[in-house]
Amino acid sequence: MTALLLGALGLTLSLVVPGALAGARWPDRAPAAAVLLWQAITLAGVLCALGVVLAGPEELVRAAGSGRRVAVAVLVAALAVAALIVVRLLVSLAGVMWRSRARRARHRLLVDLLDRAEQRAGLDVDNLRILDGAQPLAYCVAGREPRVVLTGGALDVLDDAQVAAVIAHEQAHLRHRHELVRESFTAFYKAVPRPLRSRAPLDAVNLLLEMVADDAAAARVGPRTVRGALERLSDGGDGRGRRLDRLAGAMTTSPALTAVVVVVAVALLVLPTVVVVVPWLSAAVSRWPL
Ligand SMILES: [Zn+2]
Repeated sequence: MTALLLGALGLTLSLVVPGALAGARWPDRAPAAAVLLWQAITLAGVLCALGVVLAGPEELVRAAGSGRRVAVAVLVAALAVAALIVVRLLVSLAGVMWRSRARRARHRLLVDLLDRAEQRAGLDVDNLRILDGAQPLAYCVAGREPRVVLTGGALDVLDDAQVAAVIAHEQAHLRHRHELVRESFTAFYKAVPRPLRSRAPLDAVNLLLEMVADDAAAARVGPRTVRGALERLSDGGDGRGRRLDRLAGAMTTSPALTAVVVVVAVALLVLPTVVVVVPWLSAAVSRWPL
């Protein structure tokens, strides 16, 4: 029964919930909490898969009344499969982080080399780099020595307040270590077998992190300025319209919704463990070795 319940919950969390959540607009009113919810959904899905792998064989062996040797063999096999799942996730995470770090180090070197320092006059930001280029772009290179990068084209189309907005947005990504959140979702995406994987969580979280950074910038310079900057930058992302709507005041951040979403995220991790896993584990241990 435990394996069935965890299996049903795991399938719901990995096949039904992501599609519904990715299509919903309410996360725009609580983007930081919605990122936490995506993390809870992903982690709970992994825990459900581990629960099925461990509880399923144990319950089958017990129902079939198999002997002790069979039970031990099944337990060892179940533990091996569970370990394989965990190792696959950890290897994927380590690979993504290692490659990202190397790519960022190369990128940092490049923007330091190409920096047009003379164009930084009047901009008192330590880690700012200006690149030649007509396309108005802004981004950050995360890491221990982070950089905020603007193109000359961005400086041409933005006024001073909008430049401050863009820098505040990029600094928020760096301050909140958004690259770690992105990397963890990328690692999870890559670790899931191809037929089962979905980009929905990755894309949704990327957009929500942009909204979190927009809010941080808006708190400093006001949403109108951030909106004006976003309109002028070349950011072809799918969520651009949603970000502009929020900054126009169509969707304001709701503290009440944020609190509810945080409670749901925590409950998603705690409740299945307390209600389903703990009773099964205590019963399985007390019955051992059958
Ligand atoms: Zn951003």
